[in-house]
Amino acid sequence: MKTIFRKKVSDQRKQLILRVGEEMGIEKYGGYTLFDDSDYVDYANPKWKRRALHLNVRRGIEEASPDHILELISDPECDHFVWLSKRIAESERVHMLWVYAHELRHVVQDTLYPGLSEMTEPLRKSLHAGSAKQPTAFPIEMPQEFDAELAAMDVVVKILGDEEYRTYRRREEAANRKAADYFRRFDELAAPWSGDPIADTRRMAISL
Ligand SMILES: [Zn+2]
Repeated sequence: MKTIFRKKVSDQRKQLILRVGEEMGIEKYGGYTLFDDSDYVDYANPKWKRRALHLNVRRGIEEASPDHILELISDPECDHFVWLSKRIAESERVHMLWVYAHELRHVVQDTLYPGLSEMTEPLRKSLHAGSAKQPTAFPIEMPQEFDAELAAMDVVVKILGDEEYRTYRRREEAANRKAADYFRRFDELAAPWSGDPIADTRRMAISL
């Protein structure tokens, strides 16, 4: 994948971003990662209201997209597209690298675990609907998302070191309740993690 910086970032930040790409082996995939210079919080297609995303372009392109994005995803060589909004590209480096590594892990998952995205889709819908059993569920309840978060943590710790990760986490936990709940749930899921998101997704689909 080719990394495109529409948003100007410092050389130091650029090196860290490229390092994440190397660690995750993205050179063997066709497509683009884009650090955008805009946020699209009012965009008609809700996909672009997000902070970041991964598109498997082989499963279909998003027709309703900003022109410069549509151009990239229409490229016949583009299998995967990873997009980071301006607000992520500008955010604290540990956070930015985390979000980036998370989205890149979705690229890797498509090869490692074929079918995982399709299996996860119905779970995503039911979690969004807020089932009675899990009224405040985080996306990491889905094995696909938890696997992406774990991979992101590994890469961040490898590149920035354990101390920077822990400081970031402590600060987030202290600053807001949701982050504290999130990291507590992250730890709960990490303890019994099987490392097999396909089996875990199957189990979850049965229990929902
Ligand atoms: Zn994700």
